Amino acid sequence: EKALVWFRRDLRDHDHAALSAALSNARQVYCAFVFDTDILDTLPSRRDRRVHFIRDSLAELDAALRARGGGLIVRHGRAVDEITALAARLGVAAVFANRDYEPAAKARDAAVTEALEQRGISFHTSKDQAIFDGDEVLTQSGKPYTVFTPYKNAWLKRLTPTDHAEWRCAGQLAGGENAGVPTLEQIGFVPADLNQIGIRPGMSGARALWDDFRAGRIARYGQLRDFPAIKGVSYLSVHLRFGTVSIRELVRTALAEEAGTWLNELIWRDFYFMILDHFPQVVGHAFKAEYDAIRWVDWPAGFAAWQAGRTGYPLVDAAMRQLNHCGWMHNRLRMVVASFLTKDLGIDWRLGERHFAEQLNDFDLSANNGGWQWAASSGCDAQPYFRIFNPVTQSEKFDPEGKFIRRYVPELAAVPNKYIHAPWTMGRLEHEAIGLVIGRDYPAPIVDHKKARDETLARYSVVKKVA
Ligand code: FAD
Repeated sequence: EKALVWFRRDLRDHDHAALSAALSNARQVYCAFVFDTDILDTLPSRRDRRVHFIRDSLAELDAALRARGGGLIVRHGRAVDEITALAARLGVAAVFANRDYEPAAKARDAAVTEALEQRGISFHTSKDQAIFDGDEVLTQSGKPYTVFTPYKNAWLKRLTPTDHAEWRCAGQLAGGENAGVPTLEQIGFVPADLNQIGIRPGMSGARALWDDFRAGRIARYGQLRDFPAIKGVSYLSVHLRFGTVSIRELVRTALAEEAGTWLNELIWRDFYFMILDHFPQVVGHAFKAEYDAIRWVDWPAGFAAWQAGRTGYPLVDAAMRQLNHCGWMHNRLRMVVASFLTKDLGIDWRLGERHFAEQLNDFDLSANNGGWQWAASSGCDAQPYFRIFNPVTQSEKFDPEGKFIRRYVPELAAVPNKYIHAPWTMGRLEHEAIGLVIGRDYPAPIVDHKKARDETLARYSVVKKVA
């Protein structure tokens, strides 16, 4: 029997659930990837780091598959048409893929299932990107969890070595129609700046980051992870997004190294997949429906200042400039800038969510939506809604010497530590001493935090009335 493995966000040739399933079910296994025009056509630019990352990861995957007698068949078009036509022409009995939890992906897979069935071909999906999915982790009353900590406890309680065991993918693959991976230009894109910003795609790029993190930092993650000026986190998110690394391998190591804080983050990832899968209405709507009653501020200039990193709040601006520079932002800063947009500027979290979706290399609908709703207090959070980050206090706490700020906001380089978090508080003499004029060389704060806080409390008060 023949089978086709359809790669999507799982661009590796090892510990791959669908590849493993295909190899144990069929004697001839083909591999394919589709540059899906339904996705590509929605991207804001033809110069997209994600597309570049995927294209180069595919080249490496193709080489690895060729070394085993196979290779990647790459198509460009609508996934449902391309996969169905390819499966029919190859004469396979079944198509194997890894499950995806995004509403659009689920709709696509339902359409593919139907189109394949009409040709007598079956479609099998495997759990691969999460440790648990579907109804595997439920409350005692059989419902999905909506709060992280009890979910995490149940997740840990359920976990056995089988759940993070490696999927064996040994065996010969079938070659055939693989004509190589197209260039970016061939699919209508141009190269991005991955090289310049130091992002190495593919399994080898993931391996390099993972080795580095595992060797030196995983043990100290709990102490270092909140300080953006320090190399403390793993930077693996883009690789987890495109599956150039296996989540099971990361979980195994986190357990072996007793890296509980880091494991927690990987569980958050599962949690948000689960939320999106069970509550697809979170796309576009508040998880807690009563929060949709909030009247957000319509302030295009404020939004533009936030996007450009010109709000006058140094940590917020440094963070947004980090995003603009390299498509990645430290987790602490994602929380700070999301809180700033929603609770200092009063702007709808959905606008911030969309901006991140366009800019982040690691953009994942589940984690991005979850993170934004967390910041807007409309999501899965046990905290009362009135938590409002103070952008200056956050700065003092997590970038005490302003090292991170100075890296991304060079016009503040000479500001003394004492004033780096709120440079508008400097006196005239200090300004003159360093030749910096607030409002000319660096923006004056576009909002007063204390006033904004009061306005936010008033804006959110409708929630109580609805609830
Ligand atoms: P590490 O700290 O090394 O963590 C390891 C991995 O755990 C990450 O790569 C990621 O896969 C996962 N992880 C960590 N934190 C979270 C979290 N809070 N929720 C879900 N998974 C997590 N993460 C994304 O992968 N894609 C997004 O689009 C995204 N958008 C976000 C938006 C907001 C407003 C916020 C507050 C957070 C968002 N995150 C997102 C979560 C987190 O900020 C990033 O995963 C993390 O900064 C990536 O860096 P890292 O790989 O070095 O993470």
